[in-house]
Amino acid sequence: MSGLFELVKHYPWLPSLKEYYSDIEAKDPVDFINEVFSSDNHYDVNKRILNIFELSFENVEIFPNYTQDDINIYLYLSLRILLYVLDNKVITNRVANIYSKTTYNELNKESDYNLYYIYQDLNLDVIYEQEPIIYKKIILKDQIEIKDTNFKIHFIDYLKLSSRLKDEFRKLVNNPVSNGYVIIPSKSLNRLIQEYVRNKFIMNNKRDNRNLSRFKDKLFKNQNFKTIFEKINAKWDLMKEEFEYSFEVGFKKGKDISKDFPPCIKEIHTKIKEGQNLIHTERLFLTWFLNALKYPEDEIINVFSSLPDFDRDKTAYQVRYAIKKGYTPYSCQSLKSMNLCMAKQYKDTLCLEGYFSKKLAVQKQISHPLFYVQFNQFKSSKKNFIKNESRKKK
Ligand code: SF4
Repeated sequence: MSGLFELVKHYPWLPSLKEYYSDIEAKDPVDFINEVFSSDNHYDVNKRILNIFELSFENVEIFPNYTQDDINIYLYLSLRILLYVLDNKVITNRVANIYSKTTYNELNKESDYNLYYIYQDLNLDVIYEQEPIIYKKIILKDQIEIKDTNFKIHFIDYLKLSSRLKDEFRKLVNNPVSNGYVIIPSKSLNRLIQEYVRNKFIMNNKRDNRNLSRFKDKLFKNQNFKTIFEKINAKWDLMKEEFEYSFEVGFKKGKDISKDFPPCIKEIHTKIKEGQNLIHTERLFLTWFLNALKYPEDEIINVFSSLPDFDRDKTAYQVRYAIKKGYTPYSCQSLKSMNLCMAKQYKDTLCLEGYFSKKLAVQKQISHPLFYVQFNQFKSSKKNFIKNESRKKK
């Protein structure tokens, strides 16, 4: 089917890749890399690969300008080989994240017709009903909102796809099931496909280091491939500098680390202490921030206890729900766009002027409130180390 042929270019992780691009898919990886990185296409492949790695290192979630063409197939297969030889879990997770989220975004733009063929190609037992099936009625005052969908998926396939997602609302018992089929809107189904795609990148790997090194040697005979591998590693090395400060961060019973909190968090704390109400975004940000610092659930709930509308059970539910979502706290850029950055109001030097990067020999701006804490903890641990050493000498 020619439609599916076009869809494979858009979504190269589809099983039909084997059928339509059997010459590429069945190739030995070393021959494949040699061919791609020696062809005229290699400039484009290089450019797109570097772009994906750069964006994922900067925590971007979706890459713009997703292009649907033959190069996209080379890109997908080259990415998987590169991640295998880079052998770095953090990088793999980041790339898997941006790639799978971009896929979700693209799938949501597809027609039902194309989606149906995508699901079929994945060998999912999905049925498209001509008449929409109503799966929810929301009654708001005198208004009734009806939610319907044309899709349903067999519950076995639903369970397989959703097994790694822990949200309460995705559990089978919390979804409408009729005659063994889960009634599901296409967006929710696409979210499950997102996980399928993520696993395409992260599933492998019991590695044998000797084999890996032999494999790398063979691949590196292609100078273009070796160059891109080195470029990615060099970019990652620069990024890693931020993690230099990432030890010892986190909640410790009896130790108050709130003095190291950035102004954006201090401001929310002050508002709570003063009994001012918080907007939803502030509540979420504070919860994710404290959770990222491994504050126990009860401690996070207690933080909210001075709020005028504090209700322990309700807050406990909301905190648990926000934690389960598993999001990282907002970056400085997002906080600035939401007017929650308080750098100027607090005249905070680290926030306003950044810090000196030894590696780059330049002044760098901080990009995340968690980094603010990490940096301050790193500084005070160094001070303590020097103090202890000089005490020992006396
Ligand atoms: S610069 Fe970042 S860490 Fe500092 S107050 Fe603004 S958002 Fe918070």
